[in-house]
Amino acid sequence: MLKVGILGGGQLGRMLLQAATDYPVETAVLENDPDCPAAPYCHHFTKGDIRNFNDVYSFGRTLDRLTIEIEDVNIEALEKLAQEGVVVIPDPSVLRLIKNKVLQKNYYQEHRIPTAAFLITQSRAELKDHISFLPAVHKIGEGGYDGKGVQIISDASAIEKGFDAPSVLEKKVQITKELAVMVAIDQKGETVVYPTVEMCFDPLLNLLDYQLCPAQIDEATTLRASTIALQVVKGFQSPGLFAVEMFLDQNNELFVNETAPRVHNSGHHSIEAIASSQFDMLWRILLSLPLGSTRLISPSIMINLVGNGATGQTCYQGITDVASTPGLFIHQYGKKISKPGRKMGHMTLLGPDPNELIKQVPFLKSQVSVCGKIES
Ligand code: ADP
Repeated sequence: MLKVGILGGGQLGRMLLQAATDYPVETAVLENDPDCPAAPYCHHFTKGDIRNFNDVYSFGRTLDRLTIEIEDVNIEALEKLAQEGVVVIPDPSVLRLIKNKVLQKNYYQEHRIPTAAFLITQSRAELKDHISFLPAVHKIGEGGYDGKGVQIISDASAIEKGFDAPSVLEKKVQITKELAVMVAIDQKGETVVYPTVEMCFDPLLNLLDYQLCPAQIDEATTLRASTIALQVVKGFQSPGLFAVEMFLDQNNELFVNETAPRVHNSGHHSIEAIASSQFDMLWRILLSLPLGSTRLISPSIMINLVGNGATGQTCYQGITDVASTPGLFIHQYGKKISKPGRKMGHMTLLGPDPNELIKQVPFLKSQVSVCGKIES
């Protein structure tokens, strides 16, 4: 039986492990927190730092295959493991490229992939030289996630908000929709593309608020989005499961924003709404099995359950009230502590009419919540 390791033990690792139960595979997780969401579902749990060379290297040495659930891992250790014969998916070179927004933007430009016009800045002070380029979005090269590390610089008065580190200064796009396309590519280079999804972000938390599949865009735009996503992923020359995020603007133009080299929040609906979920698909890639089908089973809407209120022992509210809703699937991530803004679970609602699904969002959001209970 193949031994497969996952770097990171969050909800993505947990859902990946849930899908592993269908396959003959021995699973291992490396993560600092033994109480993490993935820990109860793997065969072997190793406590360790995914950013530390020695921890990643000694974890990976005993494995046949290795994957990630978060990009912020020790790439040098993965490179060494790959040289020694461990199959690392995605290839460490892709992680190196994607981890750095400057390199990632250069990659899109070199591969003639449509992306918003940009400049590279080395310091905050340099922003003063680019006033004519504003309004723009300043994105720190390394270390940003979930909108942290992104600042809108509308005019000269906002320069203070910029980053004093190597960053991308990207033209502000008049976004009408944010889209994502997942692409799976196996070890032989075969590919499948998932239906395009539409994402709506919470403007305050900068986290995905809800996601609709299929995206409500015309056929020509859907085709263009799939073609662009495939082009992005093929250029990486690495097997894996990738989520390509894009902006659609007022002129119906598409711009690639960024790519996640792993299972992704924009693909959670695939558990119920697509023949082969993103998690099932990644196992097929890891285990050298034929790729699955990305056929749509039903339109769906996916809502993140994000912690609000106090930090404390996790307390889900309202779940029993909505649990009988036909076509609703609720996922609780098993995190012991809820914090404001922390991803604690998600709900996927299936139904034939996307417009009817959107109408359900305010109701579901008003019914279900997650907060932290402070022990007295
Ligand atoms: P992160 O990697 O932290 O998720 P993103 O680069 O995806 O950061 O940016 C976060 C959000 O900021 C996007 O989802 C989008 O709403 C907004 N944004 C990013 N780049 C632009 C842009 N060039 N024009 C307009 N809005 C943008």
